[in-house]
Amino acid sequence: MIYLDNAATTQMKQEVLDEMMPYFREYYGNASAVYELGNKSKYAIDVARDRAAALLHTKAERIFFTSGGSESDNWAIIKAAEMLKCKGKHLITSSIEHPAVINTMKALADAGFEVTFLPVDEKGLVSVRDVKNAIRDDTILISIMTANNEIGTIEPIAEIGALAHEHGILFHTDAVQAFGQIPINPDEMNIDMLSASAHKIYGPKGVGLLYLSPKASHIRSLIHGGGQERNKRAGTENVPGIVGFGKACELAASTVNERMQKESELRDYFIKRVLEEIPLTCLNGADGRDRLPGNVNIGFKFIEAESALILLDQKGIAASSGSACTAGSIDPSHVLLAIGHNEDEARESLRFTLSDVTTQEELDRTVDILKETVDMLRSANVFYQR
Ligand SMILES: *Cc1c(COP(=O)(O)O)cnc(C)c1O
Repeated sequence: MIYLDNAATTQMKQEVLDEMMPYFREYYGNASAVYELGNKSKYAIDVARDRAAALLHTKAERIFFTSGGSESDNWAIIKAAEMLKCKGKHLITSSIEHPAVINTMKALADAGFEVTFLPVDEKGLVSVRDVKNAIRDDTILISIMTANNEIGTIEPIAEIGALAHEHGILFHTDAVQAFGQIPINPDEMNIDMLSASAHKIYGPKGVGLLYLSPKASHIRSLIHGGGQERNKRAGTENVPGIVGFGKACELAASTVNERMQKESELRDYFIKRVLEEIPLTCLNGADGRDRLPGNVNIGFKFIEAESALILLDQKGIAASSGSACTAGSIDPSHVLLAIGHNEDEARESLRFTLSDVTTQEELDRTVDILKETVDMLRSANVFYQR
């Protein structure tokens, strides 16, 4: 199988699994306990927190482990809004956020907050000027993703964060796609709250983190219960998961530069071959520096992405038509609509996301199979005139 859906999830590294294994049976103590077995777990969580903090060039005390990117997004947005509601009820986000942000914002809108969903340009970029124009006296929170999961566009986060801070507004970023894939420094990028997830960086599913800057450190916990995570996130810690996340962070930090270089070269090679060798195709999103190293998203005129995915699967290729969370439903991607596609065009696009073990041979084979698949689908399409 050729797996090109790494934006949906990644294969856990063997080294990650190896570090996790002892914490299932051997060191199963509750990290809150006083005896040695509990201390083992507590210490392992401390190590993981240090490793996650190192990847963000920050202090361990600012890292809080959660059940994943979705929980981190919910926590940051809901609890920041609640903390600041006396000051105002206006929130700003983009129209291309992950459902974990979009639907949280919609829930807050139902609860009496006012939300501005900013448009993006044809490359998926949020304009700093649009953010500036949207800011009001009662704006309390801006949440813009670091990089988009469907088209890979990297947003001007540092500038948006600076603008937020000029106006005394809290700034959250969903960095789930960017974390460990490109360098991120919350201090330098003016980030107050940052969401990340382990399973997008070769770690286990069901574990993530929320980074909180000193300014955001007063937000309340989302999950009520015991005093875990310094009273910020109740529930007995997922020790093996956190250990695996820590290891994945450590591996990511030591390999980020070489992965960026290698994946962006393969990305551009694959894009070039597809665009040159398959007619009526176009690249969705930005090119070069404004694009995640491992993301390819291409529109194929006169094909239906969902049909193409089934045929590709039969040939052993796992790809996606965009967000895994909306796949299965026939709704066109809200991201592709936001960059100006009509509903038909939005159903013609395929996403291929690379991993650090993707090879040029795999991509060559994918191009060959894509050619056949696209030909076959187009020849069955009555609207396609040769
Ligand atoms: C995958 C993803 C999430 C959700 O993370 P989970 O850990 O799966 O809950 C949130 N935002 C973005 C951009 C993602 O790609």
